[in-house]
Amino acid sequence: MGKFQTIRVGEAELIALQDSWTTRGPGGFFEGVEADAWEPYAEWLDEDGLMAHNFGCFLIRSQGKNMLVDTGLGQWPNPLDLHQPPSLPGVMQEAGIPVGEVDLVLFTHLHWDHTGWNTRGEEGALELTFPNARYIVQQKEFDYWTGPGDKPTNGPDYERVLAPIIAADRLELVNDEYAATREVVAVPTPGHTPGHVSFAVVSAGERAYVLGDAAHKPVQLTEPDWYPGFDLDPVESTKSRHMILNRAEQENALLAGGHFAFPSMGYPTQVDGRRSFRYVT
Ligand SMILES: [Zn+2]
Repeated sequence: MGKFQTIRVGEAELIALQDSWTTRGPGGFFEGVEADAWEPYAEWLDEDGLMAHNFGCFLIRSQGKNMLVDTGLGQWPNPLDLHQPPSLPGVMQEAGIPVGEVDLVLFTHLHWDHTGWNTRGEEGALELTFPNARYIVQQKEFDYWTGPGDKPTNGPDYERVLAPIIAADRLELVNDEYAATREVVAVPTPGHTPGHVSFAVVSAGERAYVLGDAAHKPVQLTEPDWYPGFDLDPVESTKSRHMILNRAEQENALLAGGHFAFPSMGYPTQVDGRRSFRYVT
């Protein structure tokens, strides 16, 4: 079973939910960045020199609403060498937010590892994992993945995770700075995918950003020009990453990154005159 951790943001709550995780060598994860470039960053690797790769979602509780950001890997076969089977619904149950109590599912983007638990059950008789939720997707993101032309293979499995939501009339397409509540607002961070957004949580003078894939690893606070090869537009994604990380640093905001090793949340900090990241424990 995955883990969870709760942090308060003003009057709101942010809960990191681990769906699953794996480990891999750091070399080549970022385009052109081989293992030796990681030498100054051994603190982000384990004793075998490997990098933890988390698959995490976040639950935001704000103004009486439960909002799940992204839905992880899901029950589907996948090529990853995972350390545990994806377990988001069970982790949510343990955290005290059963799947039936989710009001909104907010997507940062529609990659397969962010949309997996949209549905579950037997093929041919799939059910919505969050039966009482509306599923909120940026129009630009939906149009990209469902529009004409060849797409990368890491998009959403349309028949499994989008068609059932559309058939149940639960999909809602929104634009840019969509406000889920007065405290929870989308912040466009395009580049990883065309309609990628992060989410700002602003409550009682405190702030957090749920990054989505605007950053994949804490090392990018120090090396914001490092980007993974699967960013669709690396120039734009790098611009977005600089923007959101600079903003978070200025505001002393909590950062939540689903691919950051669990507990996936922490603050920008300065170490030896360079920006770094400090996990909350
Ligand atoms: Zn992604």
